[in-house]
Formats: sequence, C-alpha cells, structure tokens
Amino acid sequence: MPGLSVGTVMPTFILAHVHDEAECRVVYAAWRGYDSPLRGLAAMVSCASGDHRMYWTVDADSAHEALRQLPPYLAERTHASEVRKVAIR
Ligand SMILES: [Zn+2]
Repeated sequence: MPGLSVGTVMPTFILAHVHDEAECRVVYAAWRGYDSPLRGLAAMVSCASGDHRMYWTVDADSAHEALRQLPPYLAERTHASEVRKVAIR
C-alpha cells in the first residue's frame, strides 16, 4: 500500500445503514452501475424482518474512504464507526 509503513494496520470500520420500507428498493437499485469492492459480497441485512438495516465490515484508511465503498445514496445515510477487537472478560 503506498504511503503506509511496514507494520501499519489499516483501520476497520463497521458501516451501519438504516432506511425505511419506502426507501428499500431505491437502496438496492443504488448499487447498479456503482463500482465497489463490496459488490458481489454478502452484507448483513435485516430488510426481510422489516427492520431495514444493513451492515458492512470494511478496511479503509479513514471513515471517508470506508464510506466511498458505498454508492453515494447509501453513503449519505450510513454511519462509519472505526472498530477494533477487544476481549470482553
Ligand atoms: Zn430495506
């Protein structure tokens, strides 16, 4: 990766998106024609249960870069949280 020193770990982000039932079709349609490494991969989605939330786990240099993996319509309606694994004792 350009600009990264040896041993640098790229941050991980959880992308959390929520929409209502009326927006559901628009959200899926937004992916058409959008080039993203997330296309073709599984996302965690609760639309079938009527909750209409979507989650992705992505590695990126920043929250902005993480959100760029989503089509603009979704990115504007998604929260990116930088996360790391912590043992819960
Ligand atoms: Zn939905």
